[in-house]
This record gives sequence, structure tokens and C-alpha cells, in this order.
Amino acid sequence: MNDEVIRLEGISKTYGQGDAAVHAVVDVSFGVNRGDLVAVMGPSGSGKSTLMNILGCLDVPTSGRYRFAGEDVSRMSESELARIRNRRIGFVFQQFQPLPRMSAWRNVELPLLYRSAHDRRGSALHALEQVGLAHRVDHRPTELSGGQQQRVAIARALVTDPDLILADEPTGNLDSASSREVLAILEELNRDGRTVIVITHEAEVAAMARRTLTMSDGRLREEAAA
Ligand code: ADP
Ligand code: MG
Repeated sequence: MNDEVIRLEGISKTYGQGDAAVHAVVDVSFGVNRGDLVAVMGPSGSGKSTLMNILGCLDVPTSGRYRFAGEDVSRMSESELARIRNRRIGFVFQQFQPLPRMSAWRNVELPLLYRSAHDRRGSALHALEQVGLAHRVDHRPTELSGGQQQRVAIARALVTDPDLILADEPTGNLDSASSREVLAILEELNRDGRTVIVITHEAEVAAMARRTLTMSDGRLREEAAA
């Protein structure tokens, strides 16, 4: 019944040792159900990106247990982690770095090059359509606005049909109009059933989420229903 995409139990991450140790994430536990839209908030340095890297299998915790779609990630080898990262999680970062000489659809199909997709172009076009860029598929990144470029980034995150979209400050570099455009897309994807976790320090972003997790000094301080 409870279909959890994510379950963290007592996750901690410490960088360095002894006096130089930084406790970036401290004893964090929570679950995220399929179809949830969760905002992770907190000031700079509170451990949001470290948490995102662990959730995204880009980094491993120092201690604790992490299950992704029922599988125990804590025990996985690097190649198993790579499989989850590449196929089951879509990443959107603050700074999208598209390949400048490639069209939007060529940028979007990139994650499919590492897997045997029959119709990469078809999948890329479908993803671009989902972010409202069906009319811009042959444009190069330099021919798109900042908001449109970030929508290309979302399309690229979507193209593998992932279980989870993880966005770390996706509107951090955008003006307010472009931010709203990007947030509206994330909200719409969630309405279509996509599980989305958005890391942000903007209250405006968190307002659209049904659930907000707040980080402070590496700890999860509160959990408020919006
Ligand atoms: P946020 O994303 O909320 O700004 P981070 O997760 O980036 O926070 O950082 C949390 C803490 O961990 C900070 O004190 C930061 O300096 C430290 N930190 C992050 N990454 C590393 C690293 N690779 N090595 C050492 N310290 C790190
Ligand atoms: Mg960060």
C-alpha cells in the first residue's frame, strides 16, 4: 500500500576527520512516497546538497541505511549505484551545462546513449513536449532563454522515465518570470504522477510543495504540511 520511492534511516555524512570533521548531514530519517512533491529547505551550508547527493546515489553516507524503491542502496557496488543514477533518477542542477553546439533534442537524448534505446529521437521529442518545448527542439542552447534552457535540463532529466526527479536549486540562476515557468513545469510533472524533490532556499518554491523538509546544521528540524 505505501509505495515508497525513498526511505532514509539514520543517515549521516561526515567529511574529514578529527578536529577538521564536518558533520554535513546528521541522523536524517524520512520517507518519500511515489507521487510526492517535497521541498527541502534550509540556509546555505545546512547540508541540502550533501543530502541530495546521497539521495541521488552520487555520494554514499558515512552511516545509516538508504532504500531506493525497496532496494538497499547502502550495500550497493559502484556499478549498481551507477545503474540507479543513470536510469531511475533524473537530476536538475542550478547550473545547466548543455552542449552548446547541439540542438535541444540532441542534448535531451544524451542520457539514452548509454542504454539501448530504439527511438532516442522519439523519446527526446516526447520529453521536450512535456516541458512545453515542442516548438524548440532544433534550437541550440544559445538560442533559448534561461528558463527554456532549464526546461531542456528538465526534459533531459525526464527522458529516461525515472522514478524520481531531484532538483537542486533549479531556479537559483533565473529571473522571477523564468523561475515561475520552471516551477510550473515541475508542478505539472508532479500532477502527472512524477515524484519530485526540490532543494531550495526560496520560500516561494517551497510554497508549491505539499510537504517541506527543513535542514539546519545537517539535521532535519521540522516537517510541515503546506
Ligand atoms: P547546502 O547545499 O545546504 O548549502 P552542503 O551540503 O553543500 O550545504 O554543505 C554542508 C556542509 O558540508 C558545509 O559546511 C560544507 O562546507 C560541507 N561540505 C560539503 N561538501 C563538502 C566536501 N566535499 N568536503 C568537505 N566539506 C564539505
Ligand atoms: Mg547546495
